[in-house]
Amino acid sequence: MSDRQKTLAAAFQLSGVGIHSGQETTLQCLPAPENSGIVFEKGKKQIPALIQNITDTKRGTSLGGILVVEHLLSAFFALGVDNVRIKVSGAEIPAMDGSSQPFVEAIQSAGIKEQSSPKTYIELSAPIRIEEKDAKLEALPYSGFMVDFMVNFSPVGTQKLVFDLQKGDYAGEIAPARTFGCSEEIEALKQQGLGRGASLENSLVLNQSGYINLPRFKDELVRHKILDLIGDLALLGRPLRAKIKAVKSGHKMNAELVRRILNNG
Ligand SMILES: [Zn+2]
Repeated sequence: MSDRQKTLAAAFQLSGVGIHSGQETTLQCLPAPENSGIVFEKGKKQIPALIQNITDTKRGTSLGGILVVEHLLSAFFALGVDNVRIKVSGAEIPAMDGSSQPFVEAIQSAGIKEQSSPKTYIELSAPIRIEEKDAKLEALPYSGFMVDFMVNFSPVGTQKLVFDLQKGDYAGEIAPARTFGCSEEIEALKQQGLGRGASLENSLVLNQSGYINLPRFKDELVRHKILDLIGDLALLGRPLRAKIKAVKSGHKMNAELVRRILNNG
């Protein structure tokens, strides 16, 4: 694997409904110069994909007021794309099918181009650990990038998976895993004016007795949690060498880990 920075070989465009607004939004991703990082553009406003620009972590990660950036950022981070301009027409990234697979496919068909500057990895000198109630998130020094995740949702039980970015296949094993939620939770969200675009076409939905629609993997929930975590780690602004151990972690805790890594513990 080359250690030079990468951008897109060509621009691509995707449109779709936002999971919260329910409105059609368009996304245009363009090649960007080396060392520029990933930068969202909304009108004249430029919002670099960096932790200090997080505006919310309750229902997905919002950046400078743009909702649900994590699935798109997960695809760029996992495919090693460092520099991109992302123009957005609305206040939300299109949900597509609720996974990052459509983004991976668009990136792969546009192509990835190597640039001349080297990547500058973040490396850890000591473990960083965050605990909150029964949730835990740890980053340990490691030569590659690995995530070990465990979740537990009552109707389907415990799911645990170890994913190594170098040895594994992000496009096949992680990217297709969709956003999930409980049917009652989705109803409650709709009453708050959120989740208006959520449907069985872009979410894996659970009720008290299990899945309502067919899962793509028997452990799709933990795979999506890994997808989300990778997307949140993209807010480091640089690639990371670490082994991440997560138990029931979510966007808020992931964001806290990013801050702690940047502050060296
Ligand atoms: Zn997600």
